Amino acid sequence: MEDQQVSTMEKTEFLYEGKAKKIYRTPDPGLYLVEYKDDATAFDGLKKGTIAGKGVVNNLVSAHLFQLLERHGVPTHFVELVSDREMVVRAVRIIALEIVVRNITAGSLAKRLGLEEGLVLDQPVVETYYKSDELHDPLINNDHIRLLNLAAPEEVEAMRAAALVVNEVLKEYLAGRGIDLVDFKLEFGRTLDDGRLVLADEISPDTCRLWDRDTKKKLDKDRFRRDLGGVEEAYAEIMRRLIR
Ligand code: 5GP
Repeated sequence: MEDQQVSTMEKTEFLYEGKAKKIYRTPDPGLYLVEYKDDATAFDGLKKGTIAGKGVVNNLVSAHLFQLLERHGVPTHFVELVSDREMVVRAVRIIALEIVVRNITAGSLAKRLGLEEGLVLDQPVVETYYKSDELHDPLINNDHIRLLNLAAPEEVEAMRAAALVVNEVLKEYLAGRGIDLVDFKLEFGRTLDDGRLVLADEISPDTCRLWDRDTKKKLDKDRFRRDLGGVEEAYAEIMRRLIR
């Protein structure tokens, strides 16, 4: 009965449009509906495009991984899938921090520290970025987080600990499907109804670097960011290996 109620959850009022998703209120004030778009942006919106089918892949892959994480004790905002492009989530206020975890050097870490890409790290590196388009998401430390009053120290510690659990669970799960989890970005929120800290946003080829274990082929948004071609195929390949 409850399942049926959630799966027919109607969108009431449009709330917010991000680069890759739209958020709607639902008749239940504690729940939002998220609609995943095919729109793609990179480099703070300087590069814009469309990846056909991305919304479906990111919705279904995120739902799949949120459920996996819940089974491993990580609280997430995920409630239920509504359609190929839509999920119901707990209504949260997003914390303006991006928590990045890295297992292999790539992207901004390689650039910032002058390292070649593809070095396997002995232990994961966790970083915090300030989620701000105007400032281009700068890397920030715990003192900056306190200065900006973005989150309490206990919350920062809880996000960091949860991110490391997410890393262990996803790394093992993806390894079983022939995929190296290079790095990923997480966002957390506080639920509107009781202020609980939960993993929010999405976990998808938009927010993770995923390399084929054997060929090291990139199966993620870097194909779009770096004009590598085969973008749609890479997203479809991730969905095939994870879900279908
Ligand atoms: P980097 O700091 O190397 O650019 O990104 C590290 C990881 O976090 C990559 O997996 C990347 O996809 C993800 N990431 C970091 N910032 C963002 C962001 O603003 N949007 C998205 N979609 N992913 C991000």
